[in-house]
Amino acid sequence: MECVVSGIRPTGRLHLGNYFGALRNFLSMQEKHQCFFFIADYHSLTTHPTPVNLRENVKTVLAEYLACGLDPDKCTLYIQSDLPQTAELYLLLNMNAYVGELERATTFKDKVRQQPDNVNAGLLTYPVLMAADILIHRATKVPVGKDQEQHLEMTRTFGNRFNRLYKTNIFPEPVAFNFGNQLIKVPGLDGSGKMGKSEGEGNAIFLNDPASVIRKKVMRAVTDSGPTTPHSQKPAAIENLFSLLKLVSSDETYRFFDDQYNNCSIRYGDLKKQLVEDIVMFTSPISEKIKAVESDSELLARAIRTGKEKAHASANETMKETRKAIGFSI
Ligand code: AMP
Repeated sequence: MECVVSGIRPTGRLHLGNYFGALRNFLSMQEKHQCFFFIADYHSLTTHPTPVNLRENVKTVLAEYLACGLDPDKCTLYIQSDLPQTAELYLLLNMNAYVGELERATTFKDKVRQQPDNVNAGLLTYPVLMAADILIHRATKVPVGKDQEQHLEMTRTFGNRFNRLYKTNIFPEPVAFNFGNQLIKVPGLDGSGKMGKSEGEGNAIFLNDPASVIRKKVMRAVTDSGPTTPHSQKPAAIENLFSLLKLVSSDETYRFFDDQYNNCSIRYGDLKKQLVEDIVMFTSPISEKIKAVESDSELLARAIRTGKEKAHASANETMKETRKAIGFSI
């Protein structure tokens, strides 16, 4: 059994991209491995959220993950700031993380370009905090996207450096969790790229969107005048609709519209109506569950407490050995 760690950004409501791209993998991982999933509220402070927004977003994300099936008895789901041992390990790792290597991180260079007025030290040392998140549980596997691979490499560097410096083997080398072809990219509704919160209004379908909103978003999705040559290649915007169909509809439905496309008889209005129906069928039970969990403060408090206790048990072990290796305990 592997030990897996993954962070969750507290950015509010989940969309279909988050569900099929990340959450579904979490659900399968919690069945097979020892998993630590944390809501990364320390990390989010680099953007200076207001306390009200931060609290609301953490609560929403927690409720949504629980509603979708993350089980506090099967995994450790905790709020990052409930585990201040992470902050201590971050401080210790910072002593051997060099400004030069941190400045070379691609994500840091991007941030400097994007927000020149807020280049804070938290952004520079983001990879060290990420290393602390992973090393605190001595994880062996980390589900990361392409953009995080460099950070994972840095985590290995910091862990190995610590081990070498203090002649210990406390920290194992974490590697990327390989999902093979299970890792999918969910397209947005604007005809290009990927479903995402920041890609503009109407691009993403959120799990708790009401049916009327889902209908409006899907019906407005970009299409064209239809194929004129049988078996022609689908343009990107059309391919996107078919990809969504593949996720939420039955194989028969998918084949039905695919055949219609291939013989040039397709009517996109019909495809969209079917897509709306199938998305609503998929999201409405989840949406109901989210509402129920969000209003159950006792359930939320219990989940937070359980996660915190399990995370502490794991982190305390690591910190005991780490502090000893450094020479803190006499
Ligand atoms: P975000 O909070 O938007 O960064 O998304 C959290 C995670 O959800 C990402 O790390 C991805 O694993 C996943 N995700 C987000 N959008 C998509 C998408 N359109 N397709 C597939 N996975 C996605």
